[in-house]
Amino acid sequence: MDYEILRDTVAEINLDNIAHNVRTIKEMIGNDVAMMTVIKGDGYGHGAAAVAPIMIENGADYLAVATLTEALELRKLYKDYKLFILGHTPNEVLHYVVDNNIVQTIYSIEQAKILDELGKHINKKPVVHIKYDTGLHRLGYEHKKESIEEIMRILELKNLCVEGIFSHLAQASKEDDKEQYERFIQAISEIESKGYKFKYKHLCESIAIIEYPEYRFNMVRPGTVLYGIKPYKENFFFKQALTLKTRICSIRNVRKGEGVGYSYVWKADRDIVIGTLPFGFADGYSRKLSGGLGYMIVNGKKAPVVGRVCMDQCMIDLTDIPNVKIGDEVIIFGDGKDGSITIEQASQLLDVTRGEILSRISRRTPRVYIKGDNICKTVDYLMD
Ligand SMILES: *Cc1c(COP(=O)(O)O)cnc(C)c1O
Repeated sequence: MDYEILRDTVAEINLDNIAHNVRTIKEMIGNDVAMMTVIKGDGYGHGAAAVAPIMIENGADYLAVATLTEALELRKLYKDYKLFILGHTPNEVLHYVVDNNIVQTIYSIEQAKILDELGKHINKKPVVHIKYDTGLHRLGYEHKKESIEEIMRILELKNLCVEGIFSHLAQASKEDDKEQYERFIQAISEIESKGYKFKYKHLCESIAIIEYPEYRFNMVRPGTVLYGIKPYKENFFFKQALTLKTRICSIRNVRKGEGVGYSYVWKADRDIVIGTLPFGFADGYSRKLSGGLGYMIVNGKKAPVVGRVCMDQCMIDLTDIPNVKIGDEVIIFGDGKDGSITIEQASQLLDVTRGEILSRISRRTPRVYIKGDNICKTVDYLMD
């Protein structure tokens, strides 16, 4: 164990489940397709530093993050892992990318030239992948002739290794995705017909890997699915890794007609038992789960959230739960087998993505890692 756990509220992360999910994807894609596992947003809230070795041990070729600082955090810990930045890095700090052997996404000749120049000075070729916008209209070269010409000029730079080209689907519909796929193919074949070659071509994130095996090329970029969060449509073989839990810290009786929580927006419609929990929206639990939407599991039974969720505390109705006492465990989000709200269900209740639920779990919540049913590691970001 690395940190003493000083709170009752923790995010418990089952590393065996993540390992299972990574292997499941690896089996699906086979040995001819490389796997770039995405651990941006602090490993979707699971802790990038802790999940990185699990990804690598179970078949990941690359680890992808969104920002330079996310990559540097990992580089300090892991000298040899292949790290990839999916997003933009400002021109002035591109030397960090080169000095730390990080692979950078680029989508301009300006950045290509800066990296080429940096490479010349230290006698090593910075590695990049080119981002091509096939329709999401977020990042990457626009789909047009001038872009193809500029990409070919990048490919001519002597001190730069253009290792790959990639795009990202908008997932608006099957037809739209197909159109994006076809634009991508068209751009690649135009470039490759001139004698250039990309080692890696990639398009698919989690859902696309499963839905469109024919779009996998020779690399895929799974994120969400590795944490066992069910894609909206179906799918089955993945195990949720994260459980958010706490313990009851206070219990009281409240009479019919009395209010609970700020502004008394909720009032007891009978004599009830209220339990107070030591966590709130500062831990990443949305205040929108107040007012009937949210519930938690105590001793195997549902306890509805009552009153407004506060920054650091919230209250649940324990009236129908027998023998409940201070210190009892409360499952805030779980895998659903105990009736708990899963990350998937929370995302639907709140109308946000699964990634948003996960990345809102804040630094204040300690992470407890489980392997083989035992705690193998603990992290409290505030105690660093
Ligand atoms: C986040 C991200 C991914 C992973 O997406 P999931 O849907 O979580 O699998 C893949 N590619 C890019 C470019 C991303 O930004």
